[in-house]
Amino acid sequence: MDLSFSPEDAAFREEVRRFIDENYPENLKGKLDEGEEWSKEDYLSWHRILGKKGWVAPAWPTEYGGPGWSATQRYIFSEELARADTVPILPFGISMVAPVIYTFGTPEQKARFLPRILSGEDWWCQGYSEPGAGSDLASLRTKAERDGDHYIVNGQKTWTTLAQHADWGFFLVRTDASVKAQEGISFLLIDMKTPGITVRPIITLGGEHEVNEVWLENVRVPVENRVHEENKGWTCAKFLLAHERTGIAGVARSKRGIEKLRAIAATELDGDRSLIENPFFKRKIAELEIDLAALEFTELRGLAALAAGKPPGAESSLLKIKGTEIQQRITELTLEAVGHYGAPWFRGFGDSDNEHAIGPEYALRAAPTYFNMRKTSIYGGSNEIQRGIIAKMVLGL
Ligand SMILES: Cc1cc2nc3c(=O)[nH]c(=O)nc-3n(C[C@H](O)[C@H](O)[C@H](O)COP(=O)(O)OP(=O)(O)OC[C@H]3O[C@@H](n4cnc5c(N)ncnc54)[C@H](O)[C@@H]3O)c2cc1C
Repeated sequence: MDLSFSPEDAAFREEVRRFIDENYPENLKGKLDEGEEWSKEDYLSWHRILGKKGWVAPAWPTEYGGPGWSATQRYIFSEELARADTVPILPFGISMVAPVIYTFGTPEQKARFLPRILSGEDWWCQGYSEPGAGSDLASLRTKAERDGDHYIVNGQKTWTTLAQHADWGFFLVRTDASVKAQEGISFLLIDMKTPGITVRPIITLGGEHEVNEVWLENVRVPVENRVHEENKGWTCAKFLLAHERTGIAGVARSKRGIEKLRAIAATELDGDRSLIENPFFKRKIAELEIDLAALEFTELRGLAALAAGKPPGAESSLLKIKGTEIQQRITELTLEAVGHYGAPWFRGFGDSDNEHAIGPEYALRAAPTYFNMRKTSIYGGSNEIQRGIIAKMVLGL
């Protein structure tokens, strides 16, 4: 196992760093730190810049527009994006539906959808979960019935991230209720402008409009928009979930989070000294850093195995659990560090000219970010489900 980076990798890192320095839009720098949220246009502007450079889809095969990078280069690239605190590239098009389309789709589907995902023309959302089907996804009930060369879709999806912006959605629907749950599901690509679709916001604890309910009432979907065979959607769903979990450890973003936390703790006062000098607080940061270093080495070990041609295993569950726990602890300590400046937060506060925020700018998002990050141990397969996977696949229980 070799965990060191080669001179070529170091040169690649330099190239990526320079590109980000020279091309990341000025108006996006530090936007979150100033208490604002990413807008649709923010996401798209960085997507387009990376798309033009050929770097927006690091894992895609070159024949569809991927850059042909090794696993190590992909890792370095994601590290550099995190280091520069860039707006994230949303996964729904690039790393979720696209791999399904280029693996299971028809030539027409590939030609129609992949270029538009690369260019950012189509914004995608994921219609898997339902009010009665989350962890037990195969029990989903949204049904699609054949009517000539169309399906008629009826049902409700929930927690659909950023569906309010979506042009297209990939949906799991039941096409046969008479067989074993997993064997009666199909994978449909649905134009979100089709009559019968209603997107309703769910406002989260942090006050954000990030997730939605999506209602489908007699929505007509051409049969040509089904990926893979009818009733074979579960194969696509499982394949996609494996992609959803890669990169979920978020080591680089957490490193950046701890750097920011350290800076805040150095500024905040604890009596007549800075908070960072408080041995109890210092110890909490040190514990976080040690756990993050251990996680990073676990991830690098996985990367070395991948580079040596071994397939990824159930270790991704381990990365997901530890990665998300660390992300949550960073937001907890950040909220603790800003102390009572985190308390008066409410949405819109400090936006108007005559209502200045109480406390420093970095305190503005401490509470909403803390609330928002509770999601990480739920989505992408909850951490309890991941523990079940480890118990079975790694420990053989
Ligand atoms: C912010 C956010 C964004 C999301 N975005 C999307 C999206 O874009 N598209 C989409 O389709 N879905 C999305 N989801 C849904 C997400 O995938 C589900 O919330 C998740 O799969 C859990 O399902 P559930 O909420 O129905 O909880 P449940 O499955 O009802 O689970 C409730 C609790 O029981 C535990 N539990 C359940 N089964 C077991 C078991 N077998 N063993 C041990 N414990 C168990 C769970 O861990 C959890 O703590 C999102 C969720 C969140 C929070």
